Amino acid sequence: MSPVKHEHGPADPLPPEACLEVFEKLSEYLDGELSPQDCAHIQEHIRDCEPCVAFVESLKTSIRASRELRSQETVRELPEATREELKAAWRAALQRRTG
Ligand SMILES: [Zn+2]
Repeated sequence: MSPVKHEHGPADPLPPEACLEVFEKLSEYLDGELSPQDCAHIQEHIRDCEPCVAFVESLKTSIRASRELRSQETVRELPEATREELKAAWRAALQRRTG
């Protein structure tokens, strides 16, 4: 039996757990509520992760849209429905990537 080799290169997909972690913190990140350390962690992840890039862009658009709709109050949290929608889109993107 040949030994199993673990090779890591730029083509390796990031573990979905890492993406989940980023997802959980994204709204805080976009609101500027995270510590500089957490921000750096997320930025680093997003740089290397295509589904997350697409996800962050759509999240930013949604946040901007909900702020424009309710300009008199500060929108800190995305509506639950929007979050779920984005999460579903993000999961679909992840599945496309991992096959
Ligand atoms: Zn990711």
